[in-house]
Amino acid sequence: MVVVGAGPAGASLALLLARRGLPVELIDASGRGGRPFRGEGLMPSGLAALAAMGLQPLPPAVAQRPLAAWSFFLDGQLLFEAAEPMGSPVPCTLIDQDTMLRELLGQAGRLAGFRFHEGQAATDLLERDGRIAGVRLADGTALEADLVVACDGRESLLRRKAELPLESAPSPLDVLWFRLEAPGSEGLVQWLAGRFVTVVGAAGSYALFHSARGGVQLGWAIEPGGASQAPTPASPGAWLQLWALDAPEPLARLLRALAEAAVQGPVRLPVRVGLCPRWQRPGLLLLGDAAHPMSPLRAQGINMALRDALVAARQLAPALLAGDPAATDQAAAAITAARLPEIRRIQQLQQEEAHRADLLRRRHRLRSLLARTARWSGPLLERRWRATQRQLRNGVEAITTDP
Ligand SMILES: Cc1cc2nc3c(=O)[nH]c(=O)nc-3n(C[C@H](O)[C@H](O)[C@H](O)COP(=O)(O)OP(=O)(O)OC[C@H]3O[C@@H](n4cnc5c(N)ncnc54)[C@H](O)[C@@H]3O)c2cc1C
Repeated sequence: MVVVGAGPAGASLALLLARRGLPVELIDASGRGGRPFRGEGLMPSGLAALAAMGLQPLPPAVAQRPLAAWSFFLDGQLLFEAAEPMGSPVPCTLIDQDTMLRELLGQAGRLAGFRFHEGQAATDLLERDGRIAGVRLADGTALEADLVVACDGRESLLRRKAELPLESAPSPLDVLWFRLEAPGSEGLVQWLAGRFVTVVGAAGSYALFHSARGGVQLGWAIEPGGASQAPTPASPGAWLQLWALDAPEPLARLLRALAEAAVQGPVRLPVRVGLCPRWQRPGLLLLGDAAHPMSPLRAQGINMALRDALVAARQLAPALLAGDPAATDQAAAAITAARLPEIRRIQQLQQEEAHRADLLRRRHRLRSLLARTARWSGPLLERRWRATQRQLRNGVEAITTDP
């Protein structure tokens, strides 16, 4: 079989199927460089999937750090702080995604049937008698396969080639990403104390956390399409001043004192949200963001991709080992049916949270009322927020471990 895309969905699926003794060709267009901005948040739902794959704990070479709490500031005032693990069996954990993927690929590389085509793009699907029969690579190679699993991310070329429609959902935000590097960001790291901090105020809104890769990662929310609520600053120094405007006092001071050279970015990563009602055609299956592009809000995409891969490996392995195309297609249909309800629910919860955040960004009076009354409105809002987080943290479907 061929798996296209070595992100969380493709790398974990390839490893799981290679472990079952299946020949797996994994193709990824990107080279070894790694990406400067990758998701880092693993929820208990994703950690449970990793555990079921036999990948917990991840080796120490994969930088990882449990989150201490989620803190929300409105107009410089602390609204509430929810300490991890918030009733879950394990806390949300930040991981260096690049090294986690390298670990999965390293484990797969030690298995006999696994081959990795790194730095090779799949450019087309091969089709025979109405069935997808493999992929064409950028160098012209035709790779035949009994099944192609497209894990090629939110802009999936193979989804488009297969004409599997994506129902796009509007996203109220895009994000500009920054890294605040050491030396210089140590004070910020100390102030964060392992928390994921969200700041909303008149100048705009942003979230920041101590990255598992070191330094601080900061995401600044902008309108979809690129407009910022405030004029976009032209220099790192102006960004630091802008963030300081709505920050609580110790954070504002630390931001103003930060050297411009410590600021990397912005990198704009457009948020795309959508869902394919059908994930498969004979000979082809979509998984991860290719089937359901996820918003970065409340760290869901990696987790859902890992959970897709776990379900897919369990359903596909018997049919692929038997070399039975009809059973393989039936398994692919069963995977879609098994995963759609959780994805629908999680995207709905993300959308609701995005709209609440958007409301706070836009409604100045509501924000300042909540900030002024934080002593009693904070605990009320915290209770409501915690209730909305249960499924976002733990997933909707229970994960079982293979016997
Ligand atoms: C900035 C940012 C922050 C995020 N933060 C979080 C977070 O904290 N927690 C979380 O859970 N989610 C987060 N997400 C979402 C998460 O990153 C994605 O949902 C997740 O990576 C999807 O995994 P995937 O394997 O489906 O796709 P991807 O991770 O997108 O991997 C797709 C792979 O396919 C390869 N590819 C693409 N096209 C081709 C082709 N034609 N041929 C060969 N290879 C190809 C790409 O090189 C890539 O390696 C974030 C997203 C962004 C953009």
